[in-house]
Amino acid sequence: MINKERLIETFMEYVKVDSETKNEKAIGERIMHDLNYIGLSAEFDDAGKKIGSNGNNIYCFIPGNNDSEPLLFSAHMDTVTPGIGIEPYIDGNYIKSKGNTILGGDDKSGIVAILEALRIIKENNLKHRPIEIMFSIGEEGGLNGVKNFDFSKLKSNKGVILDSSNGTGHIVTSAPGQTRIFAKITGKASHAGGSPEDGISAIMVGAEAITNMKLLRIDEETTANIGTFNAVGPTNIVSPLAEIVAEARSRCNEKLKEQTNHMVDCLIKSCEKYKAKLEYEIEECYHSYAIDDNDELVEMVSNICKNLGLEVKKIPSGGGSDANVYNKNGIKAINIGTGMEFPHTLEERLSINDFVDVTKVVLEIMTK
Ligand SMILES: [Zn+2]
Repeated sequence: MINKERLIETFMEYVKVDSETKNEKAIGERIMHDLNYIGLSAEFDDAGKKIGSNGNNIYCFIPGNNDSEPLLFSAHMDTVTPGIGIEPYIDGNYIKSKGNTILGGDDKSGIVAILEALRIIKENNLKHRPIEIMFSIGEEGGLNGVKNFDFSKLKSNKGVILDSSNGTGHIVTSAPGQTRIFAKITGKASHAGGSPEDGISAIMVGAEAITNMKLLRIDEETTANIGTFNAVGPTNIVSPLAEIVAEARSRCNEKLKEQTNHMVDCLIKSCEKYKAKLEYEIEECYHSYAIDDNDELVEMVSNICKNLGLEVKKIPSGGGSDANVYNKNGIKAINIGTGMEFPHTLEERLSINDFVDVTKVVLEIMTK
């Protein structure tokens, strides 16, 4: 029933609309136009001005005409860089991008799959459950669009997010939470040749703190990493300033707290030891979530995938997505694969077979 040609054509048109994070206005208007064309009314919220974007989240509610409970479907409009002037082309089973850009299948594959399923429902007058759509801005780099969404609008308490770079049939049922630590170590400048004993080297203080940290793979569900260690100066001055940016992730919120505290502790101890000044901030980027493999929603989507002949895998994710924020706000949300591969790289591509399959999955869920 899926119109494969239209699906692919719409996807190609969508990725040609530039929409790097904070520049989602044009793609938002295109999506709104297409929703209206299908005969649906949707609304923009005002999240954009809170996060410095020219676009806004799109919300749409479609009343149902069967007895099933309402369900939320969501994907994000923004892309990572370099995402300007994308030229998509088809190579066998894949849609790829020419030149030096990403493809933008992350996450326009999700958006277009949802829109195609809605078109099929409208064209064929299919019975369907109450459907809520949320297309977010600012997902990349902080999930900021959904964080500023008004959750009181939602009628659903379950959701399906289309934003996983796995094959169709893969269901992400858990994802880590993440914190970021921004630390500034202020030492004391002194001439490195004449009076080094009068100085406090911020570089050495920071280095010792990092050496004492447990980092990288902590355990099966916890990781930590230093992303930035910034201190630039001449060799004849004892370094007065160092800046460190680090992250920790865990699928267990307790462990995440523990790891974050451990890293901050190492910074505090090293600064105390050398009498350097420490200023730091902890950013709670998002919370972890874990949904039972036997959960009703997971079962329903698994069965639909199996019936379509897809291989079902319930997997954990190593990164966050809008699903983290939905789960934190009481919406049980799983994240499903759309066939995008190698997202956030110039090699990004979209498997056409998976893309068609995920559209079938969405249509089946909507009409269940
Ligand atoms: Zn994404």
